[in-house]
Amino acid sequence: MTPTDPTRPDPAAQTGTESHPTSLNTATDPNAATNTEPSTPSSLPQPQTRQVGYAVLGLGELTLDELLPAYATAGRSRLAAVVSDDRDKAVQSALAYGLSEADAYSYDTFEDLAERDDVQAVYIVLPNALHREYAERAARIGKHVLCEKPLAGNVEDAEAIVRACRDAGVRLMTAYRCQYTPVHWRARDLVQGGGLGAVKLIHSVNVQVEPDEGQWRLRRDLAGGGSLLDVGLYCINTVRFLLGTEPLEVTARTHSTPGDPRFTEVEESVSFQLEFPDGVLVSCSCSYGASHARTLDVYGAEGRLSLDPAFDYTSLRLRVHTPDAVTEHRLRETDQFTLEIDHFSACIQNGRDPFTPGEEGLQDERIMAAIYRSARERQPVRLDEHPGRDVFRGAPPERPRMERA
Ligand code: NAD
Repeated sequence: MTPTDPTRPDPAAQTGTESHPTSLNTATDPNAATNTEPSTPSSLPQPQTRQVGYAVLGLGELTLDELLPAYATAGRSRLAAVVSDDRDKAVQSALAYGLSEADAYSYDTFEDLAERDDVQAVYIVLPNALHREYAERAARIGKHVLCEKPLAGNVEDAEAIVRACRDAGVRLMTAYRCQYTPVHWRARDLVQGGGLGAVKLIHSVNVQVEPDEGQWRLRRDLAGGGSLLDVGLYCINTVRFLLGTEPLEVTARTHSTPGDPRFTEVEESVSFQLEFPDGVLVSCSCSYGASHARTLDVYGAEGRLSLDPAFDYTSLRLRVHTPDAVTEHRLRETDQFTLEIDHFSACIQNGRDPFTPGEEGLQDERIMAAIYRSARERQPVRLDEHPGRDVFRGAPPERPRMERA
């Protein structure tokens, strides 16, 4: 899949890197200060018929705290139904977001959504191992599928999801919010536009403490894996996004604290190295046992780019360090989930493949499977070669919309 969208990121958006020795410079988004007018149709209020209607499955933390509010600020997307096995929660959520009791479904009545012409897409926000079942069921009733990360609990399920959506002729997007944020796009522009010179090394860390022994994330049958599938995935995916290329080989080690009841089924920590084309060496670490940190550093021949935090929902910070100066790139923040959801809606409306289709999530599943295999066998694992750029990605998101406040 090759990007063909004429709205590819504008290199001019990389401006504002004036340097002053020994000071901290700021490179603000030129659009941010002046762009108070909506810049694309997606940012205008639209009649209901112009918006894609979604049924959101799973009313857990992510849905309640981030996704339902995100629909309120979306332009191309609207919340049309919620699905949960907790009737009270479903009804309360529906009412809280302007829907009616009739818009609250259960997993058993999910197929009734087939009758709802105003529901074109389903957003799956369930434990990883349940993504396949609901993606297949959604495809069978002709709904487009936006699926939370990781696409599935393993490669086989991810392949099945891609196949089911393809066979049913519905669109599939892996919900990789970090591939829709202005800060990550600015970082990608710097990396791919030569702003750091030739890239040599990348280091990325995503760690957090998972304290809850009863949490589905610690159960293999529901999560598919441990910290790698949940948080290590961000490191892999963001590095692939920044470089635009695919890794050739992986080497990895896993470790779980002996006797810790949280880690009897899934791993606690993973450290892995990825070799990318052109000799770019990438080193990543993830853990469920280390105190919160989410960072990414790209080391080039002429400078270093630092994202810290790199994967949070808000307050992402991008800095470029050169021998003479440190420049902070400040971009206005837009809700990451709104950008992601509206991109999928634009793809549905315009008949395009999303920037992060199912194949993008599937490739990460394959890389993670290779990481586990390398750790198990204690040796490097070669990956299938995929020369070229953005080989698994579809149409890039609309840049002007992304950079608007
Ligand atoms: P959560 O535990 O808060 O919610 C899970 C939901 O699934 C709940 O509504 C629960 O009732 C429902 N569920 C249905 N069957 C279940 C079962 N058998 N066991 C447990 N729960 C069941 O989880 P979450 O944090 O909302 O994560 C859901 C998905 O979203 C996961 O795939 C996760 O990786 C992803 N996620 C993505 C981000 C992101 O930034 N993109 C952030 C958090 C979570």
